[in-house]
This record gives sequence, structure tokens and C-alpha cells, in this order.
Amino acid sequence: MEYEREPREELLGLVRSLAERVRVDSELGRPLSWLTRVDPAVAVPKGDDRVRALADVPGPIPSAAPAAGKPGRLEALREELEGCGRCSLGTRRRCLVFGEGNPRAELVFVGEAPGADEDEQGRPFVGAAGQLLTKIIVAMGLKREDVYICNILKCRPPGNRNPLPEEIAACEPFLIRQLEAISPRIICALGSFAAHTLLQSEAPITVLRGRFHSYQGIPLMPTFHPAYLLRNPGAKKQVWEDVQEIMKVLRNG
Ligand code: URA
Repeated sequence: MEYEREPREELLGLVRSLAERVRVDSELGRPLSWLTRVDPAVAVPKGDDRVRALADVPGPIPSAAPAAGKPGRLEALREELEGCGRCSLGTRRRCLVFGEGNPRAELVFVGEAPGADEDEQGRPFVGAAGQLLTKIIVAMGLKREDVYICNILKCRPPGNRNPLPEEIAACEPFLIRQLEAISPRIICALGSFAAHTLLQSEAPITVLRGRFHSYQGIPLMPTFHPAYLLRNPGAKKQVWEDVQEIMKVLRNG
């Protein structure tokens, strides 16, 4: 669905999102690191001490500081989001859907936003698209508990409409910190929305999918959203190719 946006509002949303990114990067001592496109082939491997240090040592982010380690940092973030009213979606939700899975996951799936089932249960990807995602994870030889699953937005947009720029601006900083806390080896962006937001690109998902890109030095594989697969089962073949690329990297770790 397309939405007419006031250019001023859209610009304000972008500026807020940019300011938050600069703040997080400078707190982590990586000024403007997001401007640097890193070749996935030379992305810092999981075992690298610098990455471990970044993930496990209590960082300068205030909410993360008291609770050391990945689970503690995620819990602190979840608490920070409790009762969130940073955008208007907060007034409509039943449940905030923070994300779930292994806080030390090597692989993180990022979707778009909770739907009705997720809003009801407070868990990501539990509806029909979620069941298909679970099948994909199992076909990869993994369990849902092995990976981490979250979304760009933590609250359901009414009628499952597309997220608005100000909603992303309000929510994305938490996703950035979630990914910082987990520090996965690979990110899989499910659908164009997640891919566009994480890669700051507007290229069609058909162009982006099938090869690794880089998100903050972490290899990121965009692929079709499971909800798209439900409508277009023919695209399952391409998703299978994409996840096989992910499996190759995980196996060679
Ligand atoms: N679609 C998403 O993008 N995320 C969910 O959690 C469920 C459906």
C-alpha cells in the first residue's frame, strides 16, 4: 500500500533516525561506521576478539551497562521498551513484540512488523508466515531456539499496513541495539521492508536477494518474506538458494 507523506514529516523522520544512528555509533566508539560499506568477504569473523569484546563487555549504552553479556543487554532493552509510546502504534497494540530466540544466535532473522497473531501473543512470526519461517529454519537443520527472530517494528501497524517513516525512526534504534547486543555472524532480512531499512537501499528485493550485503560489517542476506511465499509458492526455490548460502557460511565458521 502506498501512503502520501508530507515531505517535511518524512524528512524529520529521516533526520531523527540518522541522529540516533550517529549517537549509537559514537557511544560504541565507531563514529559514522554505518557509512562504510564493508565487503562481506572481509567481514569480521565471529571468533574475532574485537567482536566478542563489543558484544560481551558492558558497553557505554546506559541501559546495557548494568547487565553484562548478551542476554542481559537484551533484557535491559526489552525493559526499556516496556509501555513504549514513542509512536502512535503504542496506543493500539495488545502486545509489544520484542523478538525471541537465542541471545547468542549466529543467525538473526529480521522481518517487517508484527501481524494480528503476533500482536495477540507478543511473539514474532507465529502466524501462517511464521509457520513457514519455522519450516525454513528446520529445513536448514536448525531449531527456532537456535536463531533469533525479530522485526523492524515492535508493534503492529493497523490493518498490517506498511510501517511509516516516523514509526521506523522511533523503533529502529532498538533494532540497532538488539543486533549490537546479539552480534550475530549473519543476518537474514525477510522481505523488501527489512532489506531496505537495514541496507538503506531502495533497490527491489528481486535485485537485492541472492547475495550477501553488509550491515555494520555483518554479512546480510536479503530474501523474500515468508508471507510473499504463501502467495507465491514458486519463489520458495529462490529462498532455498538464499538460505543455502547462509548455511554454507555457518558451516564454514
Ligand atoms: N510478518 C513479519 O514481518 N513479522 C512477524 O512477526 C509476522 C509476520
